Amino acid sequence: MKKFTILSIVTASLLSVATANEVTNQDSTIGDIIKTAVKETKVTPKLKQIRLEETPIESQKEIKSDVFDYKLEAKKVAENVWCFFGALDKPTKENAGYMVNSCYIKTDNGYLAMDSGPSYQFAKQSYEVMRKIADLPVKYVVNSHEHDDHWLGNDFFKKEFNATLIGPESINKNYKDGDKTRMYNILPENAIKGTHIIDLDQIVKEAFTLTLGGEEFRIIPMDVKAHTGDDVFIYMPKRKVLFAGDLVMNGRITSGRHGSVMGQLKALAMMQKLDWKVLVPGHGFITDARAMDEANLYFKLTKERILKAIDEGVDATEINEVVKLIEFKDKAMYDILNAHNIGFAFDELEMLE
Ligand SMILES: [Zn+2]
Repeated sequence: MKKFTILSIVTASLLSVATANEVTNQDSTIGDIIKTAVKETKVTPKLKQIRLEETPIESQKEIKSDVFDYKLEAKKVAENVWCFFGALDKPTKENAGYMVNSCYIKTDNGYLAMDSGPSYQFAKQSYEVMRKIADLPVKYVVNSHEHDDHWLGNDFFKKEFNATLIGPESINKNYKDGDKTRMYNILPENAIKGTHIIDLDQIVKEAFTLTLGGEEFRIIPMDVKAHTGDDVFIYMPKRKVLFAGDLVMNGRITSGRHGSVMGQLKALAMMQKLDWKVLVPGHGFITDARAMDEANLYFKLTKERILKAIDEGVDATEINEVVKLIEFKDKAMYDILNAHNIGFAFDELEMLE
């Protein structure tokens, strides 16, 4: 009886490993599966035997620290301007939402932050880096749009500095504390913990100039749906620096699910008219004169090719076969986002016809 029970347990564990293996490797032989199972069975009791006092000091620290370490480094992109550049990826447990760009502009009277990142912890850790550069308070935070990887850090700046939070109305309208937005569902617990949604203090309805400690910021809302229905960007005329938010991305495919191709083209045309030397995208690393090139080409080709396809009678079910934007196939997230973007663009452009 006892023997039978043990055998059942072993068989059950072998089966569960076999199931896991089938997912990752269809070609595993039964021998491989058993080897893996035996290996795993051996490792588990060993781990359990490790006692805290036996582990080295470094590991003890790791065990005690329950806070995600974003390992942030600030990159100087212009005089008085530093940015944190996130990975060219979707949000994952591993990057904990650090797949977005967030910037600080130093002035004589404190910082202005452009987008506050995906969590309270991200904002806190980014400020810790900035404090070593100049120990100044953050007076203003400007949010580019309502996607939560760009503003869930706001609460840190409110609590720490009573900073004035400025941004699009959609954030106040569509989100309240307790909502489980995308970052809450994806980020590891030790990264999202302590993150609260709070209201913005000031809504951007029309363009205005904010002056802080000798620096001038032109805060400009889009009047049409572009990346979202409610986008804001910042232009610093004296420094010739532009913070585009997600109206510009490079190195990766944009996410068009809330946007408009026509609106994006309008936003890019507006930015092209401004005299900038540095442009910081919402996602992506290129900030020089080429920063907008990919976005321009992507939306221009999307529009041209879809309109041509519509003229030729291509319908929604065929559009992904006809328009692929193959020029962008090596950009990050092409496989995840491009076909969807073409689908959304088709729906939009078909209505124009
Ligand atoms: Zn976005």
